[in-house]
Order: sequence, then structure tokens, then C-alpha cells
Amino acid sequence: MENSHVTTLEIDLNAIDFNLNYFKSKLKKSTKVLVVVKAFGYGSDAQKIAKYLEPNVDYFAVAYTDEGIALRNAGVKTPILVLHPQKSNILKIIEYNLEANMYSVGILKSLLEIVKSEKLKNIPIHLKFNTGLNRLGFNKKDISEIVSLVKNQDEVYIKSIFSHIAASEDLNERAFTLQQINDFKAIADELIPQLKNVPFKHMLNTSGIINYAEEAQFEMVRLGIGLYGFGNDKNETAKLKNVLTLKSVISQIHTIEKGESLGYNRSFIAEKTTKTATIPIGHADGISRQFGKGVGFVYINNQKAPIVGNVCMDVIMVNITGIPCNEGDEVIVYKNQQHIETLSKNTNTIPYELLTAISQRVKRVLKKC
Ligand SMILES: *Cc1c(COP(=O)(O)O)cnc(C)c1O
Repeated sequence: MENSHVTTLEIDLNAIDFNLNYFKSKLKKSTKVLVVVKAFGYGSDAQKIAKYLEPNVDYFAVAYTDEGIALRNAGVKTPILVLHPQKSNILKIIEYNLEANMYSVGILKSLLEIVKSEKLKNIPIHLKFNTGLNRLGFNKKDISEIVSLVKNQDEVYIKSIFSHIAASEDLNERAFTLQQINDFKAIADELIPQLKNVPFKHMLNTSGIINYAEEAQFEMVRLGIGLYGFGNDKNETAKLKNVLTLKSVISQIHTIEKGESLGYNRSFIAEKTTKTATIPIGHADGISRQFGKGVGFVYINNQKAPIVGNVCMDVIMVNITGIPCNEGDEVIVYKNQQHIETLSKNTNTIPYELLTAISQRVKRVLKKC
């Protein structure tokens, strides 16, 4: 369906190239790069980003099976790791040539049963180990059961083993993180000699690459939010280029006299004559209701215009008193990483949540010069 919405998310492909190269420059030449494109590529456009990056990366990962199928349907040929498969979609994973992460004895047994009953051979799987996040993953004590399940069979082989760091961006947790890394190495040392092939290993996300490239680079890294210019650290973010710009336009301008109200539940009462602009983006597009009543702000003609009143489903109103502008003028709703970080801080969340909340109603526009 053609999307003719005036509210657009611009995606700067040159900035993506820059950021990818920045992270690659921190790594050995031989280290493989997996790009995580779950949640529509962090709210951008997973299919187009993956197609664009395909020649320059080694792997993709998605959270759920459908996200991987969408990439295959878009023509992506690179290996795709499905981080969080369920028993019910194992057959689909195999059918679409996706690669399942196995995180428990239960799901591994289910996969083996399915692969056997379908008489398939040589299906690649990945094993995720829990080293302290306590979210998804086998524990070290599961190794003997894993080995007994996968030895003496040729239905599946273990292509990689991995783990995930709980606080890679927080240097106050360095001791905990180094313990996770050591535990993962101990798991690899115990498991790998008992397998018929040697799987590759990976552990680092964006801030892991920044803080632990020396200790835990292994054979691959998993880059997510860094691609979009967020380093989870002020200084690192400043070295990256901004990728995403959320833009809209002024639909209508109102002049509200002293004592008049604006918005649902009369959430704003003018203390003096106030000029407001109505913008076609609302909480159904990812502009959280928490941004209302002055918490959030947009840029119009390079000046900050705070949101007035409550955020509506499809629109926000902003205060443009003293800002020269007209109906139809451009509005920058998310200007850059620093703007998104300020808005995240003001609403008690993180850029990950703001980006992935940008709804599919917003038109995506890719730019490259
Ligand atoms: C989301 C995710 C990543 C990417 O994390 P970023 O912080 O965005 O780089 C890496 N690995 C796993 C297992 C993930 O779930």
C-alpha cells in the first residue's frame, strides 16, 4: 500500500555506513558482524536496511520468526538467527532457511523431534547460554544433557554458541561483566571438545563492542542500536552520526486568548495570548502521552516548541508563541540522538523504547547521497 502520510521517518544510509564502519574499526578484520534488525530494525525499516547492508555484514538476527520470514520475502539471502523461537514455529524457521536459537532443553528436544520426523539432515542451530542476565538461555549444568542429545546424530549441528551481557554499558558493573565473560569461556571450553564440529562464539552487543572488544570479541559481535548512532554513552554517541529524523508539518495554527483552554480535558489553560500549532503525529505513532504538558518538545525553524496539553491519538499541539512559522512548515519531531536522549530521560525511558515505538503508520524514507 502506498503511504502518503506527511509524517515521515528519514533514514540516512550514509550515516548507517559511517556507524557500521566506526564499529568495525574497533574490531579485528576477521571478526564477523551480525546486525540485529529486530522490531522493524529498531523502528526503522528492517527489510530495506538489511537489503542495503547485506554486502557488508555476515549475519542478521531478529527476535521472532515472522520478522525473519519478512526478510526472506524481501530477498535477503544472508544467514538469519532467530533469537526467540517457539516450538510452534520451528517448521517455519526451517522452511524459510532461518536459524533457530536454542535456549532450553525443552525447545532443543522439540526441534530434534521435528527434524527427525521430517527426515531432515544438517540443520544449523545456535545455543544461547545464560551467564547472569537470567532471561533466556541454557545453564552450564545443562551441557551434559545437550551433548547427549546432539551426539551420534546428523540431523542438526551447532553453528554457534553465545551469551548476552546484562550491563555492558555500565562500567560500574565491570566486575560482574568480566565474570559473565569468564563463565562463557568456561562453558565453551567444556562443551566444544565434546561436539563433532567447532561452533563460533559471540557475546557483544553495541556497548559490549565499545567496552569489551578486547576481552570478549570472539568470532562475531551483535550490533543493534549502535548502527542508528546510539553508543549508550554521551562521548561514544557524539562520535556516531545521526541516522533517524522524524519529521512532520504544521496542519493548523491557533491563537488562544488568556483563559481559553486547549486539548482533551482542557489540559492546557492559556495564561496569556498563546499561539499553537497542530501537528499530525500522536500517541498512536509512538509519541508517548508522557510527552504532554510541556515534557516533550519539537523543533520548528530551529527553535524549540514544547508540547502543550495532552498528546492525542493522532495529533499533538505545540506552543509556537514567538516562533515565526506558517501552516505547512516543516516540524522536526525527533531531530537527532541528543534530542531523543533528552526526551527519553524526561520520560524515564531509553532511546530503544522511543525508536521502536514509532508506528508503522509513519512513512519511512531512505536517503543516500
Ligand atoms: C537486541 C539484542 C542485541 C543488540 O543489542 P544492542 O544493545 O541494540 O546493540 C544483541 N544481542 C541480543 C541477544 C539481543 O537481544
